[in-house]
Amino acid sequence: MSKKVLVIGEAREGTLRNVTFEAIAAANIISDGGEVVGVLCGEGQLEEMGKEMIYYGADRVTTVANENLKTYTSDGYGQALQAVIDDESPEGIVMGHTSIGKDITPKLASRLESGLISDATEVVAEDGKIVFTRPIYSGKAFEKKEITDGIIFATIRPNNIPAGQRDDSRMGEVTEKSVEVGNIRTIIKDIIRKSSDGVDLSEAKVIIAGGRGVKSEEGFEPLEQLAEVLGGTVGASRGACDAGYCDYSLQIGQTGKVVTPDLYIACGISGAIQHLAGMSNSKVIVAINKDPEANIFNVADYGIVGDLFDVVPKLIEEIKQMKV
Ligand code: FAD
Repeated sequence: MSKKVLVIGEAREGTLRNVTFEAIAAANIISDGGEVVGVLCGEGQLEEMGKEMIYYGADRVTTVANENLKTYTSDGYGQALQAVIDDESPEGIVMGHTSIGKDITPKLASRLESGLISDATEVVAEDGKIVFTRPIYSGKAFEKKEITDGIIFATIRPNNIPAGQRDDSRMGEVTEKSVEVGNIRTIIKDIIRKSSDGVDLSEAKVIIAGGRGVKSEEGFEPLEQLAEVLGGTVGASRGACDAGYCDYSLQIGQTGKVVTPDLYIACGISGAIQHLAGMSNSKVIVAINKDPEANIFNVADYGIVGDLFDVVPKLIEEIKQMKV
């Protein structure tokens, strides 16, 4: 049965995050030929981003511009999104499983008294049902779930559900809705970005991760160079963060970020279960470790036994040669 599905878009510094397009693809599966409506909140200038959502498969977009929506707060976005949901009465809502998605969706679901399937890695329409797959037990198993009553509300894990093709001939309306947004209890004074290149780890296609084996802050330099030649970004194990070699914003794992890049290169990481929880669903895993017994080799597609300070520079040289 066709449905109206809302997609809550997310932007960073004026650019839509890729997971928004993936959420639109998921919404199109859920809507089953119904209507996919994008929603964007912010301070202003949302029209271009609204059009972008249409190019990726939304049928129309509602924007809410308000000075109190300049930066994300759950109070502000909660009020704006609730107003749009009240207006639209959607049968489905989809958002990325990002920091903001993780914060706002339980709040909305509770207000709507609906269920919420979080962190879905797949969505399929099966015999008239919408079935989501999501990881459990830190990614060691997957469960299939459906919402049988009320709004089909889900967050999707970045990098798992392929976005549709961008088609700038697609037409659709971008309309602005005026919403009173006030009584914000959290004041964001400043946002200080710690990651080296501004690429969000959870959306990165290539990650070069360093562990305690990197040995120092300077030890991360070859990893940064490898990330640069591969167009990727640098991540870390908690071992490296705890040792002070890098910032905790780079931590991947059970208590860090969950990532699913196309390529994950683990350098000097032993492969503790808590680290694997954050990266074992990467598409291709390469491990570089001087200990042939290291647990990381059990999840790696390709393993290199050796000293990372020998191996990484050689890899950089080889990749540069391939590019010439
Ligand atoms: P180590 O285990 O010390 O491994 C270093 C590796 O580097 C070794 O395998 C060694 O052989 C190799 N090595 C050394 N020198 C070189 C060299 N020159 N070249 C190549 N290889 C070399 N960890 C996470 O990563 N993420 C989490 O989110 C996380 N959450 C946790 C939550 C809890 C509740 C707990 C208890 C732990 C958590 N941990 C987490 C910590 C986890 O248990 C491990 O302690 C941590 O992952 C180890 O980091 P590491 O692999 O970098 O260090």
